[in-house]
Amino acid sequence: MPGPIIEKPPMQTSVTPNLVDYASARDAFSWDTAAGMLTGLPDGGGLNIAYEAVDRHAIGAAANRVALRCLRKNGQTQEISYTQLRDLSNRFANVLRRLGIGREERVCTLAGRIPELYVTALGTLKNGSVFCPLFSAFGPEPIQVRLARAEARVLITTEMLYRRKVDRLRNALPNLEHIIIVAEAGRSNIPDTLDFHTLLSAADDQFTIPPTDPEAWALLHFTSGTTGQPKGAVHVHAAVLAHHVTGRLALDLHAQDVFWCTADPGWVTGTSYGIIAPLTIGATLIADEEEFDAERWYRNLQEQRVTIWYTAPTAVRMMMKIGLETTKKYVTGSLRFMASVGEPLNPEAVLWGQQAFGLPFHDNWWQTETGGIMIANYATMNIKPGSMGRPMPGIEAAIVRRNGSEVECVTQPDVPGELALRAGWPSMFRGYLGESERYRKCFAAGWYLTGDLARRDADGYFWFIGRADDMIKSAGHLIGPFEVESAFMEHPAVAEAGVIGIPDPIAGEVVKAFIALKPGYPADDTLQRSLLGFGRERLGPAVAPKALEFRRTLPKTRSGKIMRRLLKAQELGLPEGDTSTLEEAP
Ligand code: AMP
Repeated sequence: MPGPIIEKPPMQTSVTPNLVDYASARDAFSWDTAAGMLTGLPDGGGLNIAYEAVDRHAIGAAANRVALRCLRKNGQTQEISYTQLRDLSNRFANVLRRLGIGREERVCTLAGRIPELYVTALGTLKNGSVFCPLFSAFGPEPIQVRLARAEARVLITTEMLYRRKVDRLRNALPNLEHIIIVAEAGRSNIPDTLDFHTLLSAADDQFTIPPTDPEAWALLHFTSGTTGQPKGAVHVHAAVLAHHVTGRLALDLHAQDVFWCTADPGWVTGTSYGIIAPLTIGATLIADEEEFDAERWYRNLQEQRVTIWYTAPTAVRMMMKIGLETTKKYVTGSLRFMASVGEPLNPEAVLWGQQAFGLPFHDNWWQTETGGIMIANYATMNIKPGSMGRPMPGIEAAIVRRNGSEVECVTQPDVPGELALRAGWPSMFRGYLGESERYRKCFAAGWYLTGDLARRDADGYFWFIGRADDMIKSAGHLIGPFEVESAFMEHPAVAEAGVIGIPDPIAGEVVKAFIALKPGYPADDTLQRSLLGFGRERLGPAVAPKALEFRRTLPKTRSGKIMRRLLKAQELGLPEGDTSTLEEAP
């Protein structure tokens, strides 16, 4: 299906792109050779993400370069050099050691983009513990589930988030021994918690990273499933090679870059590219503590002289909404490369990038499980707007059909199927915490099956079609309907709950709940508003339904499973498909 192509001249900027020619870069690539870009721990001590991200720069040419520039809510700018980041993360590693937190034990964060989050992440990795960021816009219920599943021993959070969300959960979380609070100002004196800065200033700034097996656990990222509880995808220190390589090739990061990744630290992009990749390259990372605001974002691009910007389609669409007039008020000429991830990037958004910034957006594709970018549009490769691009060097991607344990590769172009990746790249997840069977089911015949439907065109470009399951993508956040339904089932009025995603022009999809009430409860506006409020309170605004409809009963299979697909077909006026397993007419 040919569309417009954005052709790239061989050399667009004064900076030589890291990937000059896609085909030859792919042919020449091997992970073994790429490993030479990393340093490894001294004396053959293995591979540690934090060493590659910070310590090796702190003893090199980038020692005094700004590693992290934090734009604080109070309007101040806080800069941390590579040397300072090394010392601060050393201190935090010593804090964990003093608290008796050992290898592969989980240290969770519930915080926005504050400097302490970065110090925690890197200190945790130095200590050999597992860094597990949680999304601060979650309500208490998803937070409790994830802390419990992670068996977190330590949580780092802010005073405000503690009071709003964590305090009430403490009794339900017996494994959670230490809560470390980042105070808004001064020191925190919340009972039964520790104060982050008191601990940090008392700790030594020298820390020798113990030998680290590249296969040792490093990161835990929760992602939702269509059934059951959220899954904890485990990543290992070896993943840093993929972070580094994809940062260089897919985002064209160079050491001199000012890189702004707008992702929330509670999701995988916020770690892989919001912390690790740019630091391994020795670039300067911008972290804005404030939430999205279109004008503020233009100002950031201008004032911070951002050269590479990595954002998400929902944000791009929100910026498009305020019009090109606003764009003209700002000077964003420092920008060299713009990329987007997390949900389909519509062709109009790619082209709008060209009008607004003189550059197209480069869409790329990956998942929590893949740990890093797998398919991308590269700086020097022609863009087909609407396509996710072509597989990274070192990554084999295919469109497949599953047939039991057999996997058949679709060789014809433009034939839809499931997107699969040949297993074995460095940032591939190594398990779902405590769920080996669920992990095993993601693989067949040497392929990792992504759960996404896509097609590949005759030029080898991949095009996203949709999810193969009932997962919802709202403003880039993957939401599991089961988790939302479970929360509603705890409401006294609710007999049945079914949750789907419905199209939304800005957020891609928003969550809609269908509720069947218990006898005696009136299906009126008051109860509808009250249930929507209940959802927001329990789940947090990013996950809670935006719409709710009462039904007398919900369509179910004979085994009692809510037929979300049927709800969706009915909602969207689409053919209802095979309803032979339907238990009763709705
Ligand atoms: P998560 O694990 O939360 O990062 O979500 C991963 C899912 O987001 C993928 O399986 C896709 O369904 C979707 N996704 C990520 N990137 C893209 C993209 N560039 N285009 C379309 N969907 C995407």
